[in-house]
Amino acid sequence: MKLIGVISDTHIHGGSTRALPEQVYAAFENVEMILHGGDLTAPSVLDALNLLAPTIAVRGNNDYGALANLPISRRVEIEDVVIGITHGDKPANNLRVPKLTDAPGNSQAAADAISHFEFDGDVNCIIFGHSHRALLQNREINGRGVLLLNPGSPTDRRWSPHFGCALLKIDGDKIEPQLITW
Ligand SMILES: [Zn+2]
Repeated sequence: MKLIGVISDTHIHGGSTRALPEQVYAAFENVEMILHGGDLTAPSVLDALNLLAPTIAVRGNNDYGALANLPISRRVEIEDVVIGITHGDKPANNLRVPKLTDAPGNSQAAADAISHFEFDGDVNCIIFGHSHRALLQNREINGRGVLLLNPGSPTDRRWSPHFGCALLKIDGDKIEPQLITW
């Protein structure tokens, strides 16, 4: 069994006082790995998270400088689960993809995120961000079940009623997700 922390859209700028909130430290106290969905927006976020657990991140549309070297999408295998991570601000190959009208607050970001992995037949879970709106939804993509997870933002909730991050408990091929909001 592995406990994984999921976070996105930290939007912490250089010199900003908007550091990671205590809720994130509490939620991630026992995680073995952290996955970040992009828009970090300062390398110091990676440093802070790496002190908690090894952190894997993708590039968001607001990640520049050293963070511009992060991949747009990546796959992570944990036990028997394959997780795809991408920010959700642009679709694979910049193709236009139709919105998912049944993904509340995430109709475009979720569609764009799925486009990066829809032909990866082994991906069980897709993590993304960009909308700052949490989403936890099981979907069928090309005939297989995929868990879509947007943890929201812990620092910049915009139009969302909550700040958030998430946990994934992975045991073999089972994924038990938990959204944490405040
Ligand atoms: Zn973004």
